[in-house]
Amino acid sequence: MAVIEKNLKFDARQTVGPCLPIDPGSDHHFDTLALHAGTPADPATGAILTPIYQTTTYRQTAVGQDHGFTYSRSANPTVSALERRLAALEGAEFCTCFGTGLAATTALCLALLRAGDRVVVSQAVYGGTVRLFREVLAKFHVEAEFVDTSDEQALAGALQQPTRFVFIESPANPTLKLTDISIAARLAKESDALLIVDNTLLTPALQRPLDLGAEVVLHSTTKFIEGHNATVGGALVTSDPDLHDSFLFARNAIGAIQSPFPAWLTLQGVKTLPLRMARHSENALRVATFLEAHDRVTKVIYPGLKSFPQFELAQRQQSTGGAMIAFEVEGGVEAGIKLMNAVQLCALAENLGAAETLITHPASMTHADVPLEQREVAGITDGLIRLSVGLEDPVDLIRDLDQALACTSIQKLT
Ligand code: PLP
Repeated sequence: MAVIEKNLKFDARQTVGPCLPIDPGSDHHFDTLALHAGTPADPATGAILTPIYQTTTYRQTAVGQDHGFTYSRSANPTVSALERRLAALEGAEFCTCFGTGLAATTALCLALLRAGDRVVVSQAVYGGTVRLFREVLAKFHVEAEFVDTSDEQALAGALQQPTRFVFIESPANPTLKLTDISIAARLAKESDALLIVDNTLLTPALQRPLDLGAEVVLHSTTKFIEGHNATVGGALVTSDPDLHDSFLFARNAIGAIQSPFPAWLTLQGVKTLPLRMARHSENALRVATFLEAHDRVTKVIYPGLKSFPQFELAQRQQSTGGAMIAFEVEGGVEAGIKLMNAVQLCALAENLGAAETLITHPASMTHADVPLEQREVAGITDGLIRLSVGLEDPVDLIRDLDQALACTSIQKLT
């Protein structure tokens, strides 16, 4: 017990050796922080990369005296380095890293909720988040109301009843619907509720929810933060010390910390986050523009296109349109499936946010566990195709999609 208490007091900002300042007030720019924040050279060897501290335990100098680490379920130096880096990028004081994004969501709920509590969740969110609220937390008498949080009146109405927190994704996976984070933050505050923003789809390179009034940012670091299809991981970021302590406690209590090797890979991946997000966005705009002009494509949803219904909000709230596109093809579900089976360069796979372009059918893959009625209300139609545009040359991506779209039309005629 003493061991656990000591670790809970561990300050995630603690470093050994010289290290760039990582406070929210730091005057270093984002690209510099992505490379340096939170990772001093190794004090023992000068190694420029933080080592992978692959160790279970840490020798203590005397009873009650240690170097800030006692057991790697509670804290690990490689994971702490990643936490300092991610906190700096979100302009926050603290970050807690987890084994997966869903482990972060689970810890968030266990830290903040008790039986009888109620939460408001965006209607369109990642399918695993819906499953957690509907099929796991409901068993513990936590009530989740799924609301169109892009609609100010609907959100205000839902907040008439006591609510512990509002959980939003903006843009939402996979419909890319936006919620105005400043409005959601104001409404939540007026109702004594916390605002949690899943910032996985844009990352702090393109959107900083804490600056807009949110209390907590959640990440699946599996996606753009690590960015290379190499790990799974999650993070909770906040500047509130009490919330941070409760996340550390929950993580230790349920045993959901990230392992040192994925943390190390993520530390390397995040160095190029600003470069990758800029290139992802340029490529996505090129691909979305191509799709919009294609006669086999009936609908394209991309926040960087002028036709996007919330284009003005996208311009205000995020720095670019991001990497994600949702679209539908003529011929509905059947044609969509033909297209997904015909792509060659794009990979049909259940992930997003990687260097490689990934194509997904949400209704049968990532959102299969979301009840049909909720999918319909949220706009996750059976024909919707999700594209996570990667870092390939956009000319090659467009050629691949073009040949796949041609296949849908040829096969329709035969
Ligand atoms: N949040 C979003 C927006 C996601 O897309 C996902 C996974 O796809 C998660 C959270 C869950 O993350 P993980 O798969 O790392 O558990």
